[in-house]
Order: sequence, then structure tokens, then C-alpha cells
Amino acid sequence: MPSPVPRDPGLCARCHKDFRLLSRRYSCSRLCQGKVCHTCSVGMGKHGRCCLICYQQKHPQAT
Ligand SMILES: [Zn+2]
Ligand SMILES: [Zn+2]
Repeated sequence: MPSPVPRDPGLCARCHKDFRLLSRRYSCSRLCQGKVCHTCSVGMGKHGRCCLICYQQKHPQAT
């Protein structure tokens, strides 16, 4: 009997890394609600964390 395939494999929305291989996962809860890894998110202080996808849309100059 094959092992069940996870319904949500949990890939980072930006770099598509498997969260099972990563130690941390963050939700862009304020904007797109995407799940991103630590590398693909940026701290917004008291506003929590924002994924880089949204962050770069708001701050086109940022790298
Ligand atoms: Zn990532
Ligand atoms: Zn986002």
C-alpha cells in the first residue's frame, strides 16, 4: 500500500522549496496569505512578516 501523498506538500510560494526540508515557515498573513520560507520573507516589525513577492510589489526598488 503506497504511502499517502500529502494534500498540501507545503512548498514555499516563492522558491518552491519543500517545507519539510526547512526549519521555518511563515505566512504572509497580511497580504497574499502565501506560505514562504524564511529566506523568502521579510520582517515588517510589528506587522509580522511579509513574503518577498508582496514586498517587492510594494517596494520595487528593493532587491
Ligand atoms: Zn522560499
Ligand atoms: Zn505575500
